Amino acid sequence: MLTPVEISGLRRRLLAWYENDRRPLPWRETHDPYSIWVSEVMLQQTQVNTVLPYYRRFIERFPTLRKLARADLEDVLKLWEGLGYYARARNLHRTAGMLIESRAGRIPDCWEDFRALPGVGDYIAAAVLSIAFDQPYAVVDGNVKRVLARLLTLAAPVSPTPSRTIFQAEADRLLDRRRPGDFNQAVMELGALVCTPAAPNCSICPVVRFCAAQRDGTVAQYPRRVASRAVPEVQIAVGVVFKKGRMLITRRPAQGLLGGLWEFPGGKLREGESPSQACVREIKEEANLDVAIEGPLAQVRHAYSHFRVHLHVFRCRFTAGRVRLNGPSAHRWIRLAEIDRFAFPKANHKFIPLLRDKV
Ligand code: SF4
Repeated sequence: MLTPVEISGLRRRLLAWYENDRRPLPWRETHDPYSIWVSEVMLQQTQVNTVLPYYRRFIERFPTLRKLARADLEDVLKLWEGLGYYARARNLHRTAGMLIESRAGRIPDCWEDFRALPGVGDYIAAAVLSIAFDQPYAVVDGNVKRVLARLLTLAAPVSPTPSRTIFQAEADRLLDRRRPGDFNQAVMELGALVCTPAAPNCSICPVVRFCAAQRDGTVAQYPRRVASRAVPEVQIAVGVVFKKGRMLITRRPAQGLLGGLWEFPGGKLREGESPSQACVREIKEEANLDVAIEGPLAQVRHAYSHFRVHLHVFRCRFTAGRVRLNGPSAHRWIRLAEIDRFAFPKANHKFIPLLRDKV
């Protein structure tokens, strides 16, 4: 347990380090709440280096909340393509529209109003309110939990939800209320650059003198984790259906996993079913089309956060029927040259280049 004097010293040293050693990131060059909000939404579950090009393109295309509100969701998803967790993009777009209508585009600067917006959880609310509006809310993300667990030798495991209140209470206690935005970013930056998961660099750590795990020689024991369960792999058949030189693509429903993105039709294998049988059945069920399998196109594996998929991709020929959708929200028959206009999930991108070679 750190004393009030030690907490003051820790804040001072951490903020001084952050001023000198932080990475020059574009969202740190602005006080614009909208830009900060976009960056924080992108940074959830995603590394800084991955986010950078997406953030730049997004802000260039939609520099204001109003521009985002007026954009087609299709264009927003296209810019988000590959970043994953597409509900983030849909919520941003929807919320932009709501704020333009109900608050003349003003982003709320109080907890109750901001936290109530679609897609805004405790992390986003604390990050945006502290960084953009200097409000005294402490953020808790994976980096923060790891730093706190080591600094204070917290025995609570980092993953289960009940632990969150323990980490939140400690983060609240350490927060520098005079500079909450900088302090929050400093803790996260320390976790990203110095107090890293596998190899914390304690020899250059600005808060080493306050660190209980370093003092006790127990850094490797923190943060505590509960054993993770094996990740299931789902077998999925996918058909690239050709008809007169065009391919069928379908759009996933707006809500749910990968909502609003385009894909090639297909679905899960049933027990005892071969991938090609599943492919023919799924296309009949989803699009009411009869197809003939012409041959395999690719085998693709892709990992999501809680499961993996194994895609068995087939080239198919349309034989009969008229599209009647059961599940997807839309369909198109497109030429290969048009494919880049549509936003696809990452797993589809793993075989789309093969289409250019093999088709
Ligand atoms: Fe992390 Fe080491 Fe710094 Fe402690 S001293 S906060 S373990 S980097």
